[in-house]
Amino acid sequence: MHILFAASEVAPYAKTGGLADVASALPKALQKLGERVTVIMPRYDSIHVGEVVCQYLPVPFGYGHKPIRIFREEMGTVPIYWIDAPEYFHRGKDIYGHSDDPERFAFFCRALLETAKWLGVPPDVIHLNDWMTGLIPVYLRTVYSYDPFFADTSTLLSIHNMAFHGYFDPRQLPYFGLSPDLYTSDGGLEFRGTASMLKGGLVAADALSTVSRRYAQEIQTSEFGFKMEGLLKARRHDLIGILNGVDYEIWNPASDHYIAAHFTPEDLSGKRTCKADLLSRFHLPQELDRPIIAVVSRISDQKGFDLIQEISGRLLQAGAFFILLGSGDARYENFFQRLRDAAPHRVGVYFGFNNEMAHRIEAGADIFLMPSLFEPCGLNQIYSLKYGTVPIVRATGGLDDTIQEFDRITRNGNGFKFIPYKSNKLLEKIYEALILYQDRELWQVIMKNGMQADHSWDVSAKKYLDVYRALQNR
Ligand code: ADP
Repeated sequence: MHILFAASEVAPYAKTGGLADVASALPKALQKLGERVTVIMPRYDSIHVGEVVCQYLPVPFGYGHKPIRIFREEMGTVPIYWIDAPEYFHRGKDIYGHSDDPERFAFFCRALLETAKWLGVPPDVIHLNDWMTGLIPVYLRTVYSYDPFFADTSTLLSIHNMAFHGYFDPRQLPYFGLSPDLYTSDGGLEFRGTASMLKGGLVAADALSTVSRRYAQEIQTSEFGFKMEGLLKARRHDLIGILNGVDYEIWNPASDHYIAAHFTPEDLSGKRTCKADLLSRFHLPQELDRPIIAVVSRISDQKGFDLIQEISGRLLQAGAFFILLGSGDARYENFFQRLRDAAPHRVGVYFGFNNEMAHRIEAGADIFLMPSLFEPCGLNQIYSLKYGTVPIVRATGGLDDTIQEFDRITRNGNGFKFIPYKSNKLLEKIYEALILYQDRELWQVIMKNGMQADHSWDVSAKKYLDVYRALQNR
């Protein structure tokens, strides 16, 4: 089977969140299962690797054609192709957040299909990811509907986050090469008075998936569906939840080349070295028996920062260090900077995106906080498990699927979780964790429960393969 993987970000070439990790790891896992996989993404100006394989390919778009170049390299063993269109993708360090984002990614969708044709091997499945790829099945069902090249091509749209919709002005449809007739509410691209690329994908893709079983159920409710719950409910028989895995070649304390010392469940001594390293990097005192509570995250309301803000004083009073790596909402950045200034011996902050630091924090911290309001899957809590950094999470989406409350009697469980989105509930779990932390023997049990679990891609990649096969047999 030939699987074409379409993504707007792929680690390590461009990354703003979990999607990039998935887009890098899942294709490799599928290839290991014996499938032919090709990845296609935009060529941002931060990408300097790869070689030109096509100097000129005209893509029908706008009032005629726009030319692209195509670059290629092997991502490990999987071929990755970049669509080079400087007008759209050379935007400095921010790959999203530009006023013409819908046009940029509509172009990506159209250019991807033209690139697929240029490659010459018809895809059996195009695996789409989020709104940036939402117009691909719309193009396939309209301008390419009689194209024999795509006659046997099916599409699967994976939703990594329902919060982002790719709104655009419906008057742009002709510019995108699509008929204005597509702007209808029932089965079309209209969504609450405007057009949405995500909605286009949700109605036109042959199958839908999201990144945890729990989130697949949640998005069919008004609480989490962002007003698309009706549509998702109507398509529930085409919707599956498949938990993201982890690429243990990258996230593994036994071999991670970013961290100060390696460690395993059998020999945890290296974790103390990593803790000392982490404290020194944040200019915190070498108090190795004081627990470090850490957060690595986009700083946004989704991630529960209002709760963390509310309890931060108590967290310090309870005797822990607090370390935060993230970037985003300036309100929270200012707050945590002030917290750091008020308690420089207890708090460390780093505002920005720093992959190496993310690894060092996973390795050196004791407790990881993820009190998200909603969380489609969440990767950091799964990385935390592997690094023996015990997660405290809110029971939502993938956090609920991956974290089991620790039980002192049976000694089962890998973390702590609370249900109501309330700061006192988060604080209770922090207190529980800090008490357990004092019991070194039990703490090692909970650490090892997490470290020994297997969240590799092997299982999830097979589930995707089952979906692709079912699509082929339709
Ligand atoms: P989301 O995709 O919603 O942002 P996930 O937990 O699924 O959340 O994935 C986040 C990914 O981005 C993880 O790999 C995490 O380590 C990484 N990450 C988030 N913020 C930062 C940061 N400031 N610096 C480095 N890595 C980060």
